[in-house]
Amino acid sequence: MKILSVLLFSLIIMVGTVEVSSPDEFLNVNINVENGIATYSVKYDGQEMILPSRLGLKSDIGDFCQGLTLVDSVASEETSSYNMTGTKKFHSEFRANKLNLILENSEKKQIIVTFLVSNHDIAFRYTLGKENDNPTKAKIIGEVSSFRLPDGTTTFISPQAEPMSGWENTKPSYEEGYSSDAKMGDKSQFGHGYVFPALFHLGNHGWVLIGETGVTSGYVASHLSDFSSEKGSKIAFPMEGANNGMGDTFATIQVPGNTPWRTITIGKDLKPIVETTIPYDVVEPLYEPAFEYKPGRYTWSWLIWQDNSINYNDQVEFIDLAGRMGYEYCLVDAAWDANIGYDKMEELSKYAQTKGVRLMLWYNSNGNSNNAPQSPKNRLNTKEAREKEMKWMQSAGIAGIKVDFFGGDKQVTIQLYHDILIDANKYGLQVIFHGCTLPRGWEKIYPNFVASEAVLASENVYFNEGSAFRQPFDLTLHPFCRNSLASMDWGGVIMNRFLSRDNKSRHSRKTTDVFEMASGIIMQTSIQCVAMQPNNINELPEVEIDFLKGLPSTWEDTVFIDGYPGKYVVLARRHESKWYIAGLNAEKDSKELILKLPMLKKGTKLSYYTDKDDGYAILTELNVGESGEVKVNMKPNGGFILN
Ligand code: CA
Repeated sequence: MKILSVLLFSLIIMVGTVEVSSPDEFLNVNINVENGIATYSVKYDGQEMILPSRLGLKSDIGDFCQGLTLVDSVASEETSSYNMTGTKKFHSEFRANKLNLILENSEKKQIIVTFLVSNHDIAFRYTLGKENDNPTKAKIIGEVSSFRLPDGTTTFISPQAEPMSGWENTKPSYEEGYSSDAKMGDKSQFGHGYVFPALFHLGNHGWVLIGETGVTSGYVASHLSDFSSEKGSKIAFPMEGANNGMGDTFATIQVPGNTPWRTITIGKDLKPIVETTIPYDVVEPLYEPAFEYKPGRYTWSWLIWQDNSINYNDQVEFIDLAGRMGYEYCLVDAAWDANIGYDKMEELSKYAQTKGVRLMLWYNSNGNSNNAPQSPKNRLNTKEAREKEMKWMQSAGIAGIKVDFFGGDKQVTIQLYHDILIDANKYGLQVIFHGCTLPRGWEKIYPNFVASEAVLASENVYFNEGSAFRQPFDLTLHPFCRNSLASMDWGGVIMNRFLSRDNKSRHSRKTTDVFEMASGIIMQTSIQCVAMQPNNINELPEVEIDFLKGLPSTWEDTVFIDGYPGKYVVLARRHESKWYIAGLNAEKDSKELILKLPMLKKGTKLSYYTDKDDGYAILTELNVGESGEVKVNMKPNGGFILN
């Protein structure tokens, strides 16, 4: 990591107005302080992308929402480069112009607003106190930070849930689903606004993706309020009723100290939206990985065999399946403590290791914050219980945990995520969260963090046919939004034709086999769930099994090729030196696309997986044409893969 600071870079100071531009000068942020109110606005290539929107926060050591004057501003340049596995890109170079605005309120108290502006991303945050101040703390009661999009903008957003709703009062857990191309003024479904990330389409002018990063135990996770044309959408703090009313809705920070970063990614087209690395560019790891954490794939019985499968013999079947597929992990879901027990789990873990597979175990996060009855309970919510449990896991050779049912964004809950991750690192455990909040830069901050659910996930495809019908819509939307800003445990490449153990009863899957195989490339997480079933080994054509055996889960690079959120998507991802180009089609008609793949030389021979009429994959070959052009076809609810 290398940081350069060059003072007074590309800075124009006028009375109460400061501008900071991206290194390529296309992206401009204008900050204005007038009548005591601080606002920022954003233009890209001269086009207004964010209208003047408020800056400021209210704390118990000062009101920094009004009565503000601009005291000073300091510009510098920030460059850094870093490597990380586990997200869309291995090596990132971050180059931004930085602006620190020093604002003073009517009591002569100061706050610093920091903007980082790279070619397609903006990050801003607030700092209270100066480096050599006596340490103290402050209660952040709320923020007026807002985002006003131009008229005519359409939205790709997901509502914040009613606290204590859903399965055994476990919500909110970012599982309400996204709508697409909706009017901006629409009132949110539950009156609590919208969760991050939120994607906005400004017609011909481009796209804006809004998120948050760097949220650790030092703050609440926030969301967006409902829109008003005057005020836009404001940063909203957690709802009082979350976690059964436990915990505060405000944040407590150390002073000197700062808030998380709010991020805005801007593109004339969708390329910067899909390829952004802003959640990781502006955060640092909190600790070193204490062990070498391996990416991989896992099998999972619960998706289709459900609760009854959490027994020794059924788990042996899924371990054997993982072993035959060459997968690294098998996830044993809820109630294993009751149905298998700790002693037999040690035996099961040993058995798995003889097959080259390591187990991951499900845990309930609670506590008394919800009523979710699944066990093991009360094992991860206190330090003492955690240490004991994790020590046992380490001795039993367990590789990781999936912790479920958090239900809230209050600081007390963020602290629990943080504590679980830190302790898990001591015992070599990788961590997946379910029933949870959006991770905010966590893949980099916590090196043993893998991915979170925080999405209307595969379990719903099992639960109801409506979700099976909307699966192609969801999976063609997430690369532009939810999965662009954080790894996502969607919970499985599904190969059963029917959502049942006998693969004949209940409702059918609505996607083709190639759609599912391609979804394993499109959906990004470093430990990918392949929710194939033991019966699939004998049912699927060899070409599909072979592909799934070799499915990578880490990517050196990700390039957006084509698509529109909720309609279709084509991404190119590179694993080691090999490119995987995958497409998903959620539309009713077949799609023929002529793709430009500049990363491939003319004449390169590629394996081409596409859908046959019977829904199975067919493997043919395809040669790359002039300037990297290829022609591919996708059936409705189908896909393709080139590699
Ligand atoms: Ca869930």
